[in-house]
Amino acid sequence: MERIEKVVRQARAAFNSGRSRSLEFRIQQLKALERMVKEKEKEILAALHADLHKSGPTVYNTEILSVLGELTLAMEKLPSWATPQHLKKNLLTMRDEVFVNFEPLGVVLIIGAWNYPFVLVMHPLIGAIAAGNAVVVKPSEVSENTAQLVADLLPQYLDQELYPVVTGGVPETTELLTQRFDHILYTGNSAVGKIVMAAAAKHLTPVTLELGGKSPCYIDKDCDLAVACRRITWGKYMNCGQTCIAPDYILCDPSIQSQVVENIKATLLEFYGEDVKSSPDYERIVNKRHFRRVVGLLEGQKIAHGGESDEASCFIAPTILTDVSPDSKVMEEEIFGPILPIVTVKSVEEAIEFINRREKPLALYVFSNDKKLIRRVISETSSGGMTANDVLMHMVVPDLPFGGVGHSGMGAYHGRYSFETFSHRRTCLIRDLKLEVLNKMRYPPVNQERVDVTKFVLLKHCSNCQVGQFLSALLGAVKAVMAKIFSP
Ligand code: NAD
Repeated sequence: MERIEKVVRQARAAFNSGRSRSLEFRIQQLKALERMVKEKEKEILAALHADLHKSGPTVYNTEILSVLGELTLAMEKLPSWATPQHLKKNLLTMRDEVFVNFEPLGVVLIIGAWNYPFVLVMHPLIGAIAAGNAVVVKPSEVSENTAQLVADLLPQYLDQELYPVVTGGVPETTELLTQRFDHILYTGNSAVGKIVMAAAAKHLTPVTLELGGKSPCYIDKDCDLAVACRRITWGKYMNCGQTCIAPDYILCDPSIQSQVVENIKATLLEFYGEDVKSSPDYERIVNKRHFRRVVGLLEGQKIAHGGESDEASCFIAPTILTDVSPDSKVMEEEIFGPILPIVTVKSVEEAIEFINRREKPLALYVFSNDKKLIRRVISETSSGGMTANDVLMHMVVPDLPFGGVGHSGMGAYHGRYSFETFSHRRTCLIRDLKLEVLNKMRYPPVNQERVDVTKFVLLKHCSNCQVGQFLSALLGAVKAVMAKIFSP
């Protein structure tokens, strides 16, 4: 454990050396990261296959392409993201420079989860490097092959002191959390999220918590069910249901329940063929502990499709449950596996009420041809993010923040939002030492006339482009001030 303390101390010393601050250095490190992903693509894909049986174009898109996309965006946009933001001024400050400066926070801790083990450490790492920080990376021990690969590769490409990797499990993470960081981004379940936040509070360290929850999916009767179910099937069973924003359960009218089942069954056949187990596109549950937990959720349920499992290979078939009781175990916790319960509701009001009675989810999905109904669901519920008439897709828009709300998390990242998450927005005001006479109105002794003038001046806002318009107003104000101050 002394090693962990040393690693953090070295990262802080490296940050204090100032070398991570220049934009050239940040871009150079991001380029090195890009080189790493391109040169080691095969090794990365092999580790992901060993951990989660991931293979084919899907894993390439979700874990490799998305990291390369985030890198390209950061390298291209960093100069504009890092440019100080000049802001609106008022009459009191119109001669001054008023801006927000983005500065690195210091030493950041990134704790990853196992379900997308590469992308979940790389995306935040990209943002933290772009913002000029030192970063301690802690990949999830559950996906041990990817964790070891990240630990082997990063030091070969990046500054070793600024961006160390710590591997290990709960004892190592617990030890890391006793150290002082300037920001912690944690991805994982809510129970550990509370542990992370409590540890961070001891040092007043801000946190970004990327958690999970039960993401609902409401299907309206006025909807193309074949298309809706194909999209839902894709998002639900991808990565064997182990996706934080996968639709967790379906809410729909009882009259369409059997059509929903039939359409999902037809799509499963289309995607994975007759023998799902031998499909190269179907993943496995990450380990036996999670396998048993997920299989346990089937107990006492009406299985409309699937239900087969094999503990030795951690295989659970894509499964659909019908007429699920809202009080059953499968509706209590996040499923995080290939089981899709259908709970019937008689109206959109009932669906909204159902959603609002539970913790705020990470994602929410609604399928309908009725735009008004979609807007209504948006305005009467809350969730980290949402997509209408598709699933997962809000996550792929680089300009959208990604994060939860309430029990599904706090803070957000991706693209510019990652840069901002790992930056301090420093308020800056630069003045000169001239025209001291104008400051008289704020110095004691204060009288009512000075208060009146200050009020007038402060309530008049002016932006850079409106300077001309307000110049005459200012001159008038200055004249009035002079007259009042120097009047006998
Ligand atoms: P996990 O078991 O890999 O744990 C995550 C990290 O927490 C690991 O690095 C681990 O070392 C650490 N950890 C575990 N127990 C700890 C403890 N007692 N004290 C200190 N550290 C500890 O991942 P998980 O929690 O099983 O991940 C699945 C959850 O993560 C799901 O709820 C899922 O929805 C959520 N998730 C969220 C996102 C998101 O972006 N919001 C992404 C992926 C997963």
